[in-house]
Amino acid sequence: MTYRAQTVLAGLSDIRSDLEGLYKDLHRQPELGLREHHTAKKASDALRDLGYEVTDGVGGTGVIGVLANGEGPIVMARADMDALPVREQTGLPYASVVTVTDDGGAEQPVMHACGHDVHVACLIGCARLMAQAKDAWRGTFVALFQPSEESGDGAIAMINDGLTSKSPRPDVVLAQHVLPYPAGHVGIRSGPFLSAADSLRITVHGRGAHGSMPQAAVDPVVMAAMIVVRLQTIVSRELAATTPAVITVGSIHAGTDPNIIPDSAVIQLNVRTYDHASRSKVLSAIERIVKAECEASRSPKAPEIEKTVTFPPTINDEAPTRRVAEAFAAHFGDDAHTIDLQTASEDMSEIPKAFGVPFTYWGIGGIDTVLYSQAAKNGTIAQDIPVNHSPTFAPIVQPTLDTGVSALIVAALAWLAR
Ligand code: ZN
Ligand code: ZN
Repeated sequence: MTYRAQTVLAGLSDIRSDLEGLYKDLHRQPELGLREHHTAKKASDALRDLGYEVTDGVGGTGVIGVLANGEGPIVMARADMDALPVREQTGLPYASVVTVTDDGGAEQPVMHACGHDVHVACLIGCARLMAQAKDAWRGTFVALFQPSEESGDGAIAMINDGLTSKSPRPDVVLAQHVLPYPAGHVGIRSGPFLSAADSLRITVHGRGAHGSMPQAAVDPVVMAAMIVVRLQTIVSRELAATTPAVITVGSIHAGTDPNIIPDSAVIQLNVRTYDHASRSKVLSAIERIVKAECEASRSPKAPEIEKTVTFPPTINDEAPTRRVAEAFAAHFGDDAHTIDLQTASEDMSEIPKAFGVPFTYWGIGGIDTVLYSQAAKNGTIAQDIPVNHSPTFAPIVQPTLDTGVSALIVAALAWLAR
């Protein structure tokens, strides 16, 4: 298997400088979710030139490229394409200075602050090498470029636009993310990898009155305050110490004046959980507490609990994860690791779920190894190493791109090698 990977990866030295140029071009021209027109065109043009059967505009800007190469398994690899409304401060010669007008009419800076440009460049590199070395493998390789991961609606947009009828049903779906670990390293884990994320907007109702006459009011400020305090008991009193979860109330708004008891209060909170059971337990506990506190406060009207953003947990299936972990260990040696549980969230698992197939997802490092080991030695990783979504997040070009291309090839060939 490793031998086959070496055969396919032999072409990497010839395409390396092209890929680096492509990466810098993508980095310079980041695009927000569902507006990835330049990026999608780069991907679909490259796939068409390589002889892939290409479907464009799936769920807006999504691209599917299919390379059939005889009887055998079907492997799908997915890359997300979108950038973030962040003003880049990396100082890189290929830094973004792009600004756009958002849907609300405001001017927004745009930056590839999550490294999705790395993912796109690596998948195009992988697609090229797979097309150039068709003698080394058998089956079908599907390259999927997904829009709008950051808002959690891109995978669903592709699915709602008929993804499962526009692509052959894969045996496995693969995906990777660049993370703030040493460049050249790959990390994978079985089971939970990324948390589920649920954002809720809760409106509680009181009865407004003069600030001097609380007896005439039902005070939503006190009601909201009780809710915020009581929500703290879900993680501390209702979940086992071994079950990780986070509930953060990030926003609370009520009233306009010290002398007026307002009519209502709005609480916005974010929940992170790692499995379906604890997720539904936490969400139903939140609902129970909100309703009970409203009742305890004599609220005249039922609260409104609205889900604003939601990401599923990313839980790697065991069998394909073991297969990829073994292939990584054989290819990367000591640079292949078991990665820690990550607190970020992703929507990629919607894609294998729509096909009813398993998936595995891994991380690749993007941080200069000297910088990283210095920070590790000083105990200052948290302060010195910029993380995803930071305006200074700047994966080094190499060996990050080589690692991302190699990881995709090695993982795909764990199914497709002849
Ligand atoms: Zn992100
Ligand atoms: Zn990301």
